[in-house]
Amino acid sequence: MCIFCDIAEGKIPSYKVYEDDVCLAFLDLAQVTRGHTLVIPKKHFANILECDDETVAHLAKVTRMLAKKITDNLQAPGCNILNNTNEIAGQSVMHVHFHIIPRYGSDDGLIAEFRPNHEPYDMEQIVKDING
Ligand code: AMP
Ligand code: ZN
Repeated sequence: MCIFCDIAEGKIPSYKVYEDDVCLAFLDLAQVTRGHTLVIPKKHFANILECDDETVAHLAKVTRMLAKKITDNLQAPGCNILNNTNEIAGQSVMHVHFHIIPRYGSDDGLIAEFRPNHEPYDMEQIVKDING
């Protein structure tokens, strides 16, 4: 049983922002900032790695369209678009989704920080490893 499938099927109520044949967008119940929205496919895929190309492409298109609408209409100067893939990356609902988190200031609820470590990585080797 998946809570986002239940939302897509209307078994659990949501604050719906957008819907089409393939996907649904609704407010995250735990609003990180005002307008924090989730975009999901109606069909169940555990994460983005499991999702087919066509669905990912559609989700990306809708996510961008909504990010524009949300930032314009809620007067947010920017937004973060996030996807967590698997538990290690913070995914808690195992149904692929994109977060759209409008940003209003540096102290607005989201702490997103890159902390590069200073390992002497062999960059050429990393490229080789990635490409198999
Ligand atoms: P993630 O940690 O990337 O898997 O994000 C899952 C998100 O789903 C969290 O931010 C939750 O607040 C949100 N969430 C869980 N249940 C619901 C629900 N019933 N309606 C709306 N948002 C939900
Ligand atoms: Zn699901």
